[in-house]
Amino acid sequence: MKLKTTYLLILLTIILQSCTSVNYLENSIKLYGKSDDKSLLRFNFKEQLNNLGHLAEPWATNTYDGKGSLWVNKNTFQKQDSLTNSRGKVYTSKTDITNNTLLYLDYGDKELLPITEELFFEKLINTARYTPITLLHHFYNNKEDVKFTTTGEHVIYALEIDKYPIQLFINKSNNLVDKITYLSYDELYGDITTSFVYSSYIKNEFYTYPAHIQIEKINGKVIDIVEILNSINDNPVKLLEKPENYQIAKSSIEKNPEIQTTPYNDYIHFIDLAHTDDKVMVVEFKDYMLVAEAPINPKNGELIISEVKKIAPLKPIKYFVFGHHHPHYLGGLRPFVHKEATILCTDISENYVKYIAEAPHTINPDSLQLEPKPIKTQIIKDSLIIGKNNKMKIYFMGEKSSHTKDYLIYYFPNDKLLFEDDLCWIPKKGPIKKARSREIGLYNIIKDLKLEVDTIIQSWPIESHKVKTVIPFADLEKAVNINN
Ligand SMILES: [Zn+2]
Repeated sequence: MKLKTTYLLILLTIILQSCTSVNYLENSIKLYGKSDDKSLLRFNFKEQLNNLGHLAEPWATNTYDGKGSLWVNKNTFQKQDSLTNSRGKVYTSKTDITNNTLLYLDYGDKELLPITEELFFEKLINTARYTPITLLHHFYNNKEDVKFTTTGEHVIYALEIDKYPIQLFINKSNNLVDKITYLSYDELYGDITTSFVYSSYIKNEFYTYPAHIQIEKINGKVIDIVEILNSINDNPVKLLEKPENYQIAKSSIEKNPEIQTTPYNDYIHFIDLAHTDDKVMVVEFKDYMLVAEAPINPKNGELIISEVKKIAPLKPIKYFVFGHHHPHYLGGLRPFVHKEATILCTDISENYVKYIAEAPHTINPDSLQLEPKPIKTQIIKDSLIIGKNNKMKIYFMGEKSSHTKDYLIYYFPNDKLLFEDDLCWIPKKGPIKKARSREIGLYNIIKDLKLEVDTIIQSWPIESHKVKTVIPFADLEKAVNINN
């Protein structure tokens, strides 16, 4: 009897708890406005968007100023906005998520983007950038799958959308959403949390909304700000026409890796990775190997390591080096850290390299996640000689590249060969054109260092852009000597 009562009590507590917790969700929704299908809340906003780009330094961002409007009710999220880049160029976009249908006109596009499941969920989650309303309703509509925990301050609701675990933090004192976070996987940075932090709530007779939203991307490394300027009740708008053949396609499949190793001479080998459009260099020394460049993700790093093992099964990879910090040269770094290679870099990219090597990859574990190893770095200041008889020389080029501050180039005096990442743009066919700043930079450093070069080999691109990857030095010289 006593036992039965205890069970009943526990059961009652669980039911009560889950009821009150759903209540927080319900109460929260009520605060954000009574919404029906006929009327919508319109919010006008301005924003600052910062995106990581292929820029001169790690973590540097391109900044855009944006403004626009959104129309929201329980079944609808519509947005029309424009972004202006630092050069004053304006891009507009339109988004319409109504009853689980997504229509999307991307920035600068004239036609709607084909919709994949991935894009649908990405846009659904990204509504949180402007308002928590859409996700609040999504959580409520999927309440059977929603889990929750409570802390002193919050009830935290958790739901998986596609493969992303999303958390909604409702403040117990006022039922307002303080924060929404989601966890996702990035090939370069591993597990990344994005947070939408709501503040400066404005309350009127009918509804409440946050006027300030801070978006913390890539674990807070990049911050965006959205400011809601005002709100009104509005009628439905038609931003986009639904195509007759509308469908949501399965998400795109990754390209199969295509890898080919070619010896250049008895100690230099090049590995072409067709699926990333990159050329990787492997140099064999008496007792060890050096690898220069590894594109995009840890998987490619593993592939390159298995190719190196075919070239010299018994020699360890002592050095990994990348010509600059962009993903096509550095993205496959982690497997080399796992193999205990020393990472050669400049002091400009050292911290960045450490961040990548130490980033947790629990969602998609690689060798370094499964068996963590400390990263070993060695800084290149002006130059570094590797091997006997000046076998290989690495030179710091930095800003002279007109591309990044950490640029390195590789030189083999005995072969009159120079390997670099992405400085030459000599067409495969047709006449050579006047040299651009990167080519002029490369030509000047070759002359300044008095390097004798016959051939330049370039890492990227190997197929696209119709440019040469094996470049006679005479071509570069010709391009530089064209006057107009
Ligand atoms: Zn680059």
